[in-house]
Amino acid sequence: MVEIVKNIEGIRSRLPMSVELVAVSKTHPVEYIVEAYSCGQRIFGENKVQEMDQKHEALKDSCPDIKWHLIGHLQTNKVKYITSYVDMIHSVDSLKLLQEIDKHAKKDGRVIKCLFEMHIASEETKFGLDRDELVQILESPEFKSLQNVKICGLMGMASNTDDTEKVRMEMRSLKETFDFVKKNYFAKDLDFREISMGMSSDWKIAIQEGSTMVRIGSTIFGKRNYNVQ
Ligand SMILES: *Cc1c(COP(=O)(O)O)cnc(C)c1O
Repeated sequence: MVEIVKNIEGIRSRLPMSVELVAVSKTHPVEYIVEAYSCGQRIFGENKVQEMDQKHEALKDSCPDIKWHLIGHLQTNKVKYITSYVDMIHSVDSLKLLQEIDKHAKKDGRVIKCLFEMHIASEETKFGLDRDELVQILESPEFKSLQNVKICGLMGMASNTDDTEKVRMEMRSLKETFDFVKKNYFAKDLDFREISMGMSSDWKIAIQEGSTMVRIGSTIFGKRNYNVQ
């Protein structure tokens, strides 16, 4: 048995007030989400559109104030399925994707909170932008014309390694990029304040390095079994 409430309370007791907990429920059943909800958890992270859709549908009446965060890679052709309800998208990695989110958010009469995903790990496979690519987006006229997305900060995933110094340096580079972007593009924008970094294995380091949102799955819900679904 997974002691979800105990796990969440254990993490919360060690999180500074200013850091939000995103409970990453991917691959886990809605019953697990309901249990987390029962102790006050409201932000849930999913990495697949179809799975998030199904869970949103199943829980929208019983848990109407859940905030769904998409944390995984998003394809432009799937944006339309989530803009009516998603609270935040952590994984914006192109102008094209952001334009698509803006377009569908407008149709749904919403403004959607977004983070730019930055590539900070040395692994090739991880998605994300580098600083130059981000600057290019921020300076483009197309970006400046968007009205139905709200840029709230940056997200990053450190390398999956036991080398904690490497993880720390990668996270520090995300914080530096955040400070640079804040100063040069969002200095007066109070909404640009989030640094989404830290997972089960590295959230304590992430907090030391300035994270404002940790995305934690297995420490709350136990091991994932990708074969079940
Ligand atoms: C799965 C996932 C997490 C959570 O991972 P855990 O190691 O289970 O805490 C965090 N962020 C992203 C983007 C994920 O896909």
